[in-house]
Amino acid sequence: MNTISFTQLPGRPSCKVYHKPGQEKLTLKNVFDEAQNILIVGHQNPDGDAVGSTQALYRYLKISGKNASVIYPNGCARNLLWMDTDHKVRNFANHPEEVKRMVEECDLLCVLDFNRLGRTEALAPVLRSKQVRRIMIDHHLEPAWDDFDLGFSDTTVSSTCELLYHVFQAELDPARIDVHTAECLYAGISTDTGSFSYSCAHKELFSAIADLISKGLDTVKVHQRIFDNFSESRTRLLGCCLGERLMVKPEFHTAYMYLSDAELRKYNYQSGDTEGIVNYGLSIAGIRFAAFFTQREGRVRMSFRSQGGIDVNIFAKEYFNGGGHKNAAGGMSTEPLEAVLAKFEAVLPQFYKEHIEPHLLPEDFE
Ligand code: 5GP
Ligand code: MN
Repeated sequence: MNTISFTQLPGRPSCKVYHKPGQEKLTLKNVFDEAQNILIVGHQNPDGDAVGSTQALYRYLKISGKNASVIYPNGCARNLLWMDTDHKVRNFANHPEEVKRMVEECDLLCVLDFNRLGRTEALAPVLRSKQVRRIMIDHHLEPAWDDFDLGFSDTTVSSTCELLYHVFQAELDPARIDVHTAECLYAGISTDTGSFSYSCAHKELFSAIADLISKGLDTVKVHQRIFDNFSESRTRLLGCCLGERLMVKPEFHTAYMYLSDAELRKYNYQSGDTEGIVNYGLSIAGIRFAAFFTQREGRVRMSFRSQGGIDVNIFAKEYFNGGGHKNAAGGMSTEPLEAVLAKFEAVLPQFYKEHIEPHLLPEDFE
């Protein structure tokens, strides 16, 4: 078996830099210099970090005089659209032929905020079939290195946007970060940290934000655009979750919520509306593991969140065909919602014994 060797991003030992064997001389700067038509790709259900990082890189490349475009497998939430100032983003679900053509015409693929092509779901075969250099910049666990020619992976950062900031500093020209690029980077950082409530207790993050503020970033403006920009129906959907669909299992220090297809229709669900709802489970004293299930188009999407040493990446991988990070992961099932919830309840006692109980603190029992 070949062992994979890595270098480090200058000044950041926690960021692994991967080169495909035989391509050790590639640098990000050279790859961008050589490319004429760069396609930037976000993951399925692009969240604030996916949109923020792809739009920040797009802006940087545009300022650098490059021809670049952004594509997503499907649509993003309404409160993230402001980042696409050029209105050029295309999603595969709505514009399959146009996106196929964009992939066909590109000479470089940059994937951000995910680390295996499979995370683009229906778009993955289209990306795989194009023989072209692929770059990955991401903060999730366990990258599929083989999918890429050059990869930057740091699982200690809050977000891909934080990592991209460091990549700009170490590999590119940080003087080209303008106000909009700074806003997009901040958008990804603030969403992936739940407005600075997790994955953010390191001073490098705040130094980076201080630097972005010096470039003109207005953090209050970005916060309002993202977090004070929901539809009335989304706020009522949250009310339904908290009032009628919250299940608390104190004996397992676990809480979960669920929404059926019918409920999503009742509240006029728009993509992105359920983002962040899972975190309310963790806001209950003593709850250290939270899950959220939504049934849509014949599938159940799951979000898992935990605190401290409890590893929900393991849970998502072992039971629900998913993955992510230690404290934030997701999964998917094609079974009916009732069956998925029954399975969750059935596997919870064992997960509690092996992965929750050993990490509980005295205050969790008060
Ligand atoms: P969310 O619950 O916000 O959808 O996802 C939480 C985290 O887990 C995100 O970082 C997301 O990229 C990751 N994630 C969500 N679903 C999946 C999945 O099905 N597979 C993997 N590998 N990661 C996922
Ligand atoms: Mn992210």
